[in-house]
Amino acid sequence: MAKCPNCGKEVSKPDKSFKNMVFHVEAYTCKKCGYCFKVMG
Ligand SMILES: [Zn+2]
Repeated sequence: MAKCPNCGKEVSKPDKSFKNMVFHVEAYTCKKCGYCFKVMG
């Protein structure tokens, strides 16, 4: 789960998640405002 940095809504599922050598990256699209963002963990 991640919070949309644009409107603050919580987005429960990432569209995509992938790993590179260093990071686990999840790509989210906010359903409320349509903003796309990535979260690295
Ligand atoms: Zn949003």
